Amino acid sequence: MEVLVKDIIVEGEQALKHCNIDDWKTDSLLLAEYFLGVTRKQLLLNQGLTVDVKLKRDYMDAIQSRCHHIPLQYLTGTQEFMGLEFEVNTDVLIPRQDTEVLVEAVLTYIDKIPGEKKVLDLCTGSGCIAVSIDKMCGSAKVTACDISEKALETAVRNNQKNKAAVTFIRSDLFEQISGKFDVIVSNPPYIRTDEIPKLMPEVKNHEPVIALDGDADGLKFYRMIVGNAREFLKPEGMLFFEIGCEQGEDVQSIFIQNGFSNVTVQKDLAGNDRVIYAKLERK
Ligand code: GLN
Repeated sequence: MEVLVKDIIVEGEQALKHCNIDDWKTDSLLLAEYFLGVTRKQLLLNQGLTVDVKLKRDYMDAIQSRCHHIPLQYLTGTQEFMGLEFEVNTDVLIPRQDTEVLVEAVLTYIDKIPGEKKVLDLCTGSGCIAVSIDKMCGSAKVTACDISEKALETAVRNNQKNKAAVTFIRSDLFEQISGKFDVIVSNPPYIRTDEIPKLMPEVKNHEPVIALDGDADGLKFYRMIVGNAREFLKPEGMLFFEIGCEQGEDVQSIFIQNGFSNVTVQKDLAGNDRVIYAKLERK
């Protein structure tokens, strides 16, 4: 038996609205596009489009999962970042648009360095930062690491999917890393432990807590990375971070205490502090 797509979309919308999912309209359309394998335009123009009962069931199952606040990206398995497509699953944080500001800051900087540039991405997660830098800067040699084996497996698939050439290493921060880099970049876990229960259910119940939890004051990974970076940076090498919007001053102090200078803070699209970088001073 066939059912009209426009009818199941209305059913999906109503179910999501009933469960107080804010983006009920968009989410019902995005899931329909995903399950039918069609574009938004095809969906909206072709009102006579039908699907069989099995497809309808799959769609409504996904709507139910979304009603339980499973992020849409974990249902479709993908997220776009820097114009590239990344596989996502519950082993990795879903790439955020704000993180594009971090990638752009790194690209702007490395474009000015002549020759080959060595870049290290710590806490790579889905690999979105490392893969984007590799794709968008032909002369960058990118290494990326993560403590999570499962996250790295996803990052490796994202590297293949995007035909990038990142080297992946399973490592707890610098533990298994050797060599010197022009740039170290990281979007580490930076949420204060006591803030986690206050996050959206999509985030606190479904995204990996290991990718969120920055310990009691949220700054643990900044301290550990800045404190050990000298050994892994070339003289005057740069360290770039994504930060929480209230962490600019604290991370600036950590940089200064550890012999970095020229600290710069950049804002995200919403006007919040989001990126910080600094230069390692020669000793
Ligand atoms: N670096 C990854 C990202 O930006 C993962 C970040 C994290 O796990 N905290 O998406």
